[in-house]
Amino acid sequence: MLKKFIPSQYVPTVFDISVQGLKEAGIRYIITDLDNTLVAWDQANATEELEAWFTHLRKEGFAIVIVSNNNEKRVRAFAKPLNIPFIYRAKKPLTGGFEQGIKLLNGSKKQAVVIGDQLMTDVLGGNRGGFNTILVVPVKPTDGIFTKFNRMMERRVFSLMKRKGLIEWDLIESKKR
Ligand SMILES: [Mg+2]
Repeated sequence: MLKKFIPSQYVPTVFDISVQGLKEAGIRYIITDLDNTLVAWDQANATEELEAWFTHLRKEGFAIVIVSNNNEKRVRAFAKPLNIPFIYRAKKPLTGGFEQGIKLLNGSKKQAVVIGDQLMTDVLGGNRGGFNTILVVPVKPTDGIFTKFNRMMERRVFSLMKRKGLIEWDLIESKKR
């Protein structure tokens, strides 16, 4: 059970993910969470840095889809201007949203990676669905009220995995950005 919480990588931000490394691993499809993964949960639009990252990824041949548990209004307003397809109210850690996302891209699971800031939704759901997973440190240390419980569980699972020797990472605290 605990194994389903282990991401293949753990990085401070999406910008720390090696694009070359993804290519070498045969990854072509990026399924990403929105809130606190790409921008702070309370920030409406992408930053310039993030837009440049998407442009770079596309130039390198990646296709991107946003799979978020948030509502249509939030996800559409963010994704539309970037021309990125999206799934809202994905109900992660259920795997249906990821499956729909990869279908939107006409991609295959084996060539996809799920990126997100939460063990309890993104990593657990991605692993359950048979995807590669990358955990990032939340962009903003404070969360929406619904995420508070998940964060508490996350800290417990994280330290348990560490104690059992399943992971070597320490939990990275997010800094205010
Ligand atoms: Mg998130």
